[in-house]
Amino acid sequence: MAAELKLMGEAGMNDAGRGASVTLADLEKRYDRVNAVDGVSLDILSGEFLTLLGPSGSGKTSTLMMIAGFETPTAGDIAIDGTSVVAMPPYRRNIGMVFQNYALFPHLTVDENIGFPLKQRGVPKAERAKLVAEALELVHLPGYGERYPRQLSGGQQQRVAVARAVVFKPRLLLMDEPLGALDKQLRENLQLEMRRLHSDLGITFIYVTHDQEEALTMSDRIAVMNDGKVAQVGSPEDLYDRPSDRFVAGFIGESNFLPAIVRGMEDDVVIAECDGALIRAMCPGRPASGDKVTLTTRPERLRFADSAWNATTPQNRLSVTVTEAVFAGERCRYMLQAGDGTSMVLKEPSSAAIRRRAIGERAEISWSVADTILV
Ligand code: ADP
Ligand code: MG
Repeated sequence: MAAELKLMGEAGMNDAGRGASVTLADLEKRYDRVNAVDGVSLDILSGEFLTLLGPSGSGKTSTLMMIAGFETPTAGDIAIDGTSVVAMPPYRRNIGMVFQNYALFPHLTVDENIGFPLKQRGVPKAERAKLVAEALELVHLPGYGERYPRQLSGGQQQRVAVARAVVFKPRLLLMDEPLGALDKQLRENLQLEMRRLHSDLGITFIYVTHDQEEALTMSDRIAVMNDGKVAQVGSPEDLYDRPSDRFVAGFIGESNFLPAIVRGMEDDVVIAECDGALIRAMCPGRPASGDKVTLTTRPERLRFADSAWNATTPQNRLSVTVTEAVFAGERCRYMLQAGDGTSMVLKEPSSAAIRRRAIGERAEISWSVADTILV
């Protein structure tokens, strides 16, 4: 075992085979009457940083626990590198795990905490010491080995938890809201460290968070969960620019929703009437004329039509009234109301050269057709 660990540890940094692939097929978990996980199918690629993102209660932890082997699926299958692991006990799956509450052993030193999984696996003492030192180096805590968890800050404790989860060279690391208990500044620093760790290790990460900004910052791909189901899977850009439904559009970033009635199609652009104006939107499907639909667009993609902004792409336009104006330092945030009562948010980068809009002022706004999605 020790020799095998050593070999794996010496594998090249860019060895593409080092991360496990994970396939979830129609995965379900029922507790009494609750369908915590309700038919999740997902292919997680070798070496990928995949995040399960969703509100509290959407089934993220239950999904992770089934992958780890601490919960048994009610139905469906989990395969790691193509082999079903549903009947395999957790310790044989060789998966690293980090939880929100650090779960370090308080009576063990940092070295002993990190060495624990190696001891369990029967790795001899000298080999253990070497691997523990490497793991401490990896999480930027060399020299902390003799301390006890209570002598560390929250961020340092979480780094130790990460070191303990990767010291035995797993090919898959699962993390459940590992930064949830930390303050914002520290969380942002550790997000960048997690990304670095992911590229250093080259293994597969499955990361759980309810924080959309965190998910966007860190992930190769995000699976948005709602009510035990995957609402959409894609890159951060996919989800932000092309949300597939109203839930995803509202959960990831901020969105405006405009009620509209379909009046026609031009290739894959839908033309819809909204407060008497014709608005064009990107649309994968083919809605029928007269259909009532919702169009969505992001607040930072709206502009005042009379501003110094020179649009080079096809634009939508709408007349609105300013109902609220907030100066927030790096940007101004305006609440607007269309003639039909629809509220919208417009965010404009601030500049001393830009005229501030007053409450009650009438204005024309414009934005790209490419930034308008039918959901
Ligand atoms: P998340 O991690 O996204 O917050 P969970 O997977 O923890 O979601 O929970 C999903 C749903 O399953 C919730 O409604 C939760 O109350 C329920 N649930 C989770 N674990 C249990 C359990 N052990 N017994 C009963 N219900 C549970
Ligand atoms: Mg959870």
